[in-house]
Amino acid sequence: MEKILLIEDEEKMARMVELELCHEGYSVLKALDGLSGLTLAEKDVDLVLLDVMLPGLSGLEVLRRLRKISDVPVILLTARDAVVDKVAGLDAGADDYITKPFAIEELLARIRAALRKRASLRQAGEAPLTAGPLTLDPARREVRANGAAVELTNREFELLQHLMQNKGLVLTRDTLLERVWGYEYPGGANTVDVYIRFLRGKIDEKIGTRLIQTVRGVGYRLADES
Ligand code: CA
Repeated sequence: MEKILLIEDEEKMARMVELELCHEGYSVLKALDGLSGLTLAEKDVDLVLLDVMLPGLSGLEVLRRLRKISDVPVILLTARDAVVDKVAGLDAGADDYITKPFAIEELLARIRAALRKRASLRQAGEAPLTAGPLTLDPARREVRANGAAVELTNREFELLQHLMQNKGLVLTRDTLLERVWGYEYPGGANTVDVYIRFLRGKIDEKIGTRLIQTVRGVGYRLADES
């Protein structure tokens, strides 16, 4: 049985969601504030539903602290039109967000999608990948260029992993956006360009060749040099 942690200070709302999740066969842990939520998140949970507007420790702060210790899928519960929260939350490592008030079916669909994404990443993801002088080890979350360690953020790591898994293939910005950031990412396709620049700055310059190629008008491709 998959275990979901719900961090939500509105008790009525929390009870309603808990009932629905139990009804769907999930086991549910509940926290009414950020700190106790964080403590529960350190246990073995499969997914976290995290309200952004929490008293004391904010949802975004909970997320930042959580990401230092865990890569558990996190879906943010955000207020309508709080675009800043959504972008900040996704950048801080949330897998998805849902805007309040939401239909429970919508929430359940997002939960299934996040759990599926995680499962397929796990399945695909444990074997080390190589591309020319570049190696990426998903199990250790480690990237090396010519043997030297490269420090990447979570998002940069996932983007690179995706490019390496599809070495030699062209990936559109939208595909990358959907697979790495999750659908409906509010930043749009420009976000991909920005992160590609980050990656090139950290990788291409280190190895002295352009591994991440721009395919004009289409997207990006990792050169297949092997
Ligand atoms: Ca709240």
